[in-house]
Amino acid sequence: MAIVTSQIQTYIETQSWIRRMFEAAAELKAKYGPEHVFDFSLGNPDIPPPLQVSEALKEIAEQARQPLSLGYCPNAGLPDLRAALSNKVSAEQQLSLEAKHLIVTNGAAGALNALMRSVLNSGDEVLCYSPYFVEYGFYVGNYGGTFVPVESENGTFAPNLNALEQAITPKTRMMIINSPNNPTGRIYSREELKGIAGVLREKSREYGQPILLVSDEPYRFLSYNQQVPAVLPLYRDSVVISSFSKSLSLAGARIGYLALNPNITDFELLSAGVTLSNRILGFVNAPVIGQKVVLQALNTGVDVTLYDDRRRAMAQLLDQAGLEYQMPQGAFYFFPKAPSGLYDQEFVDALRKENIIAVPGKGFGCPGYVRLSYCVNKDIIERAREPMLRVMQSIHQ
Ligand code: PLP
Repeated sequence: MAIVTSQIQTYIETQSWIRRMFEAAAELKAKYGPEHVFDFSLGNPDIPPPLQVSEALKEIAEQARQPLSLGYCPNAGLPDLRAALSNKVSAEQQLSLEAKHLIVTNGAAGALNALMRSVLNSGDEVLCYSPYFVEYGFYVGNYGGTFVPVESENGTFAPNLNALEQAITPKTRMMIINSPNNPTGRIYSREELKGIAGVLREKSREYGQPILLVSDEPYRFLSYNQQVPAVLPLYRDSVVISSFSKSLSLAGARIGYLALNPNITDFELLSAGVTLSNRILGFVNAPVIGQKVVLQALNTGVDVTLYDDRRRAMAQLLDQAGLEYQMPQGAFYFFPKAPSGLYDQEFVDALRKENIIAVPGKGFGCPGYVRLSYCVNKDIIERAREPMLRVMQSIHQ
């Protein structure tokens, strides 16, 4: 018998394209130098964290020899941070939350896992519109659940309410939404959110059990000239998840949180469940150094105008290349269509020949598109113009 489970073996095999992509990017960088590779594959924020982050770290270093300054902390997070987060989330969600409604986690990923660990039984279903962040499916699989992609409206990626209604079964426990979206950059309007909430409310009533609406919002801070509507006031059984991976460029510090709607079904039990899950998944508590940093830097953020500049540069590049795309309303990704007649993987391969690295849409449950992340200097986007035009010429020959 193999030492690794068949589930993990299947994951390794089906996800080998991700490994190949990273290997190819690393190989190209080693061969040509990183400045000659147009790596649009990663969503690893490269904008420097705000000054408050280094100031907080200096303070933490000065206090590090005091007993317990970096000891275990409560499983749900530092009380001061939970209180500060409750103010921040109350303002964003236009609903009054207290510290007890907030649980600090190991990034948004840790929050999703702690929540799923608490509510999913084997065979339970979790819905999400495609395209989606690929890790969701693995997280659901961690607890024996089934990840069920739901089709969004063709071309616009708007929520398709009929498809949602059809997808819900008595086993549906949760629906994840992600706005601003990775990979499309789309922001759901209030009307669209109300539509989703309406369907979930009706189906929860029909099946006599609540379906949780989980809003994964690590890109809320990054919307271009528009508000990201609040989810909590629209649906009682809702949870907001977010992190500081992108807003403070602290992806490696692993600090995120989960905010429970104060009116959610069985609040006390759910809150205790998520806190316990955070502990027994082996996270114990979110990293204390990161929590202290976030507490001091909570009201700051990275310079989002840099992302907007890059967004415009990338739009110009895609226009020149004649690629079809929706202008992202938020986050730092473009999701253009592969040129007609080409599979997404074929387009990705053609781009790679010119040192341009993109991710095929099939990785997000949406073949026929590619994702381009603009977590790179504007200069790299501008210098990608000639190679991109050569790729397009070779395709049209
Ligand atoms: N959700 C979405 C949509 C993401 O894009 C990411 C990271 O890229 C995560 C969750 C995970 O974020 P974190 O680093 O906070 O765990």
